[in-house]
Amino acid sequence: MTYNIPPETAAALAAQPRVRLAHLPTPIQPWPRLSDALGGPQLWVKRDDLTGLATGGNKTRKLEFLVADALEAGADSLITAGGPQSNHCRQTAAAAAQLGLAAHLVLGGDPPPPENIQGNLFLDQLLRATTHFVDKTQRNAKMELLADELRAAGRSPYVIPVGGSNAIGTLGYVAAMFELAEQLNAMPDVRFDRIVMATSSGGTQAGLTLGAKMIGFDGPVTAISIDQAPEDADTFTFRDHVRDTANACAELLNSDVNTSGDDLRINHDYLGGGYGVVGPPEIEAVNLLATREGQFVGPVYTSRALAGLIDLIRNGQIDRNETILFWHTGGDAALHAYTSNFTPTQ
Ligand SMILES: *Cc1c(COP(=O)(O)O)cnc(C)c1O
Repeated sequence: MTYNIPPETAAALAAQPRVRLAHLPTPIQPWPRLSDALGGPQLWVKRDDLTGLATGGNKTRKLEFLVADALEAGADSLITAGGPQSNHCRQTAAAAAQLGLAAHLVLGGDPPPPENIQGNLFLDQLLRATTHFVDKTQRNAKMELLADELRAAGRSPYVIPVGGSNAIGTLGYVAAMFELAEQLNAMPDVRFDRIVMATSSGGTQAGLTLGAKMIGFDGPVTAISIDQAPEDADTFTFRDHVRDTANACAELLNSDVNTSGDDLRINHDYLGGGYGVVGPPEIEAVNLLATREGQFVGPVYTSRALAGLIDLIRNGQIDRNETILFWHTGGDAALHAYTSNFTPTQ
């Protein structure tokens, strides 16, 4: 099977402003011992935990395009938002430090006591980002307020939405799918039936689903929802947001590939105890991957997505004859803020 990257789209992508922040291409590796532990299917991993920016993760690919846009706009400060253990905020803070920009992080929740600043929040501090704690519902309003204040003070702020999930950030995951196409074309003996990854602010899913359509990958791109509740048919939903983001990204690339709501595979069965709550399935996924492959998934996103994949295999919804690519979106730096959830015997 050869995947074809549409040349006009590749050219339109190459013409987009981009700052190189990631170590690319990220490796594709088999997980033979984890596959054995689960009695099949054949599991492989795309190591976007190794993108390299201040411990890596998926936001680096988006930030290559977002930060380039900020620089074109003459920005001297980046503003973004997330949870206190946000991987996105940590990668944004690192990109800002690398390029000599200020970083303002709007974090939902209460500030932890100084002796309890761990994981990503600790790294944010080392990166000299300014943190602003607000109620989760006030994050967007606070970002706008900060932007106004910075402008009034003569600065030039650039607001990156939560997770970097707008059309520009999504370019990073279309580029990632093109990268995968080139890797797969060089490994003719392996054919993936399905891609599985975490979804939360939706940009990764939007880019991978759009990119898959563009290159002709016809297997399911199964997104395990980390915190987005199942849709209510009457309202503007997460599915609509991901669809619209994919289509806005296609427009940036002058592509007529259209994404419909039905193209998006979103599984809401693994929301567990809510965002950032580590339960038995997440703990099992962390421990299985550590002991079988010597690798780490993060506590919030990738352990939940991997736990979802493991359950879909065990309950028969995913066939044991499949060959599956787990797209590892990173997040292991947050493990250090969750040490009390893990004991050596669990
Ligand atoms: C942000 C994040 C995700 C989710 O990606 P979205 O593009 O926001 O849906 C998955 N895994 C990790 C580790 C993340 O930090």
